[in-house]
Amino acid sequence: MLTTTLFDFHPSAHSRLETLGGRELPFGSVFSDHQFRMEFADGKWSNGCIEPFGDMSLSPAAMSLHYGQSIFEGMKAFRQPDGGVALFRPMENIRRFNKSADRMCMPFIDEGLFLQALTELIKVDAGWVPDGDGSSLYIRPFMFASEAHVGVRPSERYRFLIFTCPVGQYYKGNVRVKVETFFTRAAPGGTGYAKAAGNYAASLKPTAMAKEQGYQQILWTDAVEHKYIEESGTMNVVFVINDKLVSPALGDTVLSGVTRDSILRLAARNGMEIEERRVAVAELKAAAESGALSEAFGVGTAATMTAIEAIGFAGGDVELPPVSGWTVMPALAKQLDDLRRGHGEDPFGWRVVI
Ligand SMILES: *Cc1c(COP(=O)(O)O)cnc(C)c1O
Repeated sequence: MLTTTLFDFHPSAHSRLETLGGRELPFGSVFSDHQFRMEFADGKWSNGCIEPFGDMSLSPAAMSLHYGQSIFEGMKAFRQPDGGVALFRPMENIRRFNKSADRMCMPFIDEGLFLQALTELIKVDAGWVPDGDGSSLYIRPFMFASEAHVGVRPSERYRFLIFTCPVGQYYKGNVRVKVETFFTRAAPGGTGYAKAAGNYAASLKPTAMAKEQGYQQILWTDAVEHKYIEESGTMNVVFVINDKLVSPALGDTVLSGVTRDSILRLAARNGMEIEERRVAVAELKAAAESGALSEAFGVGTAATMTAIEAIGFAGGDVELPPVSGWTVMPALAKQLDDLRRGHGEDPFGWRVVI
């Protein structure tokens, strides 16, 4: 019998694990047996427990539904060669979660307690961590305002949960991206650096419109002048320009991705020159047209890397060199994958075995 030390444990009566056998895993719609849950009231977190994954009751007046205090994280656990399980840089996600909480006027979660909740949940559902090529256990921690109250002010009650999804290779193909010069994802002084639910709601319509125009994703530009590239959809973006790895600098309008940081550090270790700076749309267009732009890709936990095969500028689309001939992105993808899956050394200390 599995036990957890710090939290109450209510095991599910029947594991659904056997229903998984040999099935293709659609991203984000198969859920493991258990979830972690904890409640915030009277100024403190309590009642942490691991319980069967399932529906929960909520007042129709729950403040998150009306005023949007809702944040989340996305991270993965990977099966290791010895059969164990490791998280990848979990403290980065935990710290970012608290940054998001701060921006949305929500309570912090002690970093140690958060890590404990994560590891105990994954230990209980360790059987759900797949070991197929490209597969992993996607982990979704989130917090929302649960107090029943009408009127705009910070909620006095919150709920924090973590659930997990076994996921296969996330491959939706290469993308054509549209440089967006009307809608904005994030404005200076806004919430772009937080993983706040409302940011994603606001991106849906511009993305749907880009799709109608034949693109799969948006290259967001700055809210002030629409002259500088910021992110690609819900991923950070990286360019290879004249053999240098170039990525828009972080700031309050760019989400600080763990994948982006990992890729930049791996590339630097490979001896590549790295530039984190403003990337003008005009520069990108000129580089794409001249051939100086040899590769472009989105980076984020869910898909890891998505190749950009064409960029839609105001004056028309510019195709990149064929993705099949790229060298930088596949090399970095392999190095990152090896690190996460426990193949070879871990020079940065990024794996956290649980
Ligand atoms: C989550 C996210 C990313 C990627 O962050 P990772 O830590 O690499 O998963 C990039 N941009 C936005 C807007 C995001 O929400």
